[in-house]
Amino acid sequence: MALKNASNLCQKTLRATKFKPLKHLLITAALCALPFLLHAHNHASTKSPVAIAIHGGAGTITKANLSDEQEAEYKLAINTALDLGYEQLAQGKDGLDAIVAAIKYLEDSPLFNAGIGAVYTFDGQHELDASIMRGDNLQAGAVASVTNIKNPIVAARLVMEQSVHVMLSGKGAEQFALEHGVEKTENTTFNTPRRFEALQRAKQRISESEAVDTQAYLENAEFNDFKFGTVGVVVLDANGNISAGTSTGGMTAKRYGRVGDSPIIGSGTYADNTSCAVSATGHGEYFIRYNVAADICARMKYQKISLEQAANTVIHDVLLPAGGTGGIIAIDAKGNIAMPFNTEGMYRGSIDIDGNKTVLIYKD
Ligand code: ASP
Repeated sequence: MALKNASNLCQKTLRATKFKPLKHLLITAALCALPFLLHAHNHASTKSPVAIAIHGGAGTITKANLSDEQEAEYKLAINTALDLGYEQLAQGKDGLDAIVAAIKYLEDSPLFNAGIGAVYTFDGQHELDASIMRGDNLQAGAVASVTNIKNPIVAARLVMEQSVHVMLSGKGAEQFALEHGVEKTENTTFNTPRRFEALQRAKQRISESEAVDTQAYLENAEFNDFKFGTVGVVVLDANGNISAGTSTGGMTAKRYGRVGDSPIIGSGTYADNTSCAVSATGHGEYFIRYNVAADICARMKYQKISLEQAANTVIHDVLLPAGGTGGIIAIDAKGNIAMPFNTEGMYRGSIDIDGNKTVLIYKD
């Protein structure tokens, strides 16, 4: 209707403004463009609404532990990642494009335990894990323990889209990724002084206690730095699909090729349009054993409860009593978002289906 009115008005004005001064011609041009703009607007609004949520890790993140500058830095990074992802979604791009855009940015930021800024292994290296999954056809891709891939999330997507496998690890994953054109980098690219100091502290604690070997250190949160900085993104795209992605350096002082939950489909990442899409962060061993991401989706699906109920139950009533600390972000096909965590803080943010943006760090 509005389109027709604007078209008629345009034609009338064209007739009336014949041989009239430039000002009238400009008004006419604007009126003639209006139907096309309206059409473009209507076309865009026939697509389903989009939404995104991001985490940058959970842990003992308290106001007392963060300076105002650090707080501002983290908030800015989460904000920027949200904008990068949302931009893709608003353009009608696939959810995986949004996930990769946001996670690549976070992998390149030294603030997070993914890509640059990843934690160190016991041997002073970085071994990176990442995964991605889409909810319409349950396709998934993951890489584990890669050491020279600049953006592991890109490699995870390639595994999903260009291979017949779901998870590739170590040297094989690197060879596959490089053959498919991903950017190679030196392992030292991921170095940061802050994570190096964390490794020294961890080693000191391990050596101070005869009873605490590396394995016990990993098992026992008391001995760990207890700040997880994994990054993850979940989205609802304009086609109504939900997807999830996660990227991490794992846990400080990890050894023997330890792989956490982040690249494990069902534990650290899961997406299914019939329930929800989830990305996790926290003490990976627990997230693996409790199959956290898939369990939230299964509870929603079979118990017919809301996303929020399912997510809260798993994080607070199942994981915490078992000793598992961390949190998740999740979205369902209607765009409902849940971001529960059982630690003191979790870097997180979202833009909901109405375009409302939130960026938060602490509990309240
Ligand atoms: N979940 C990750 C792991 O255990 C760590 C993290 O969330 O920061 O590898």
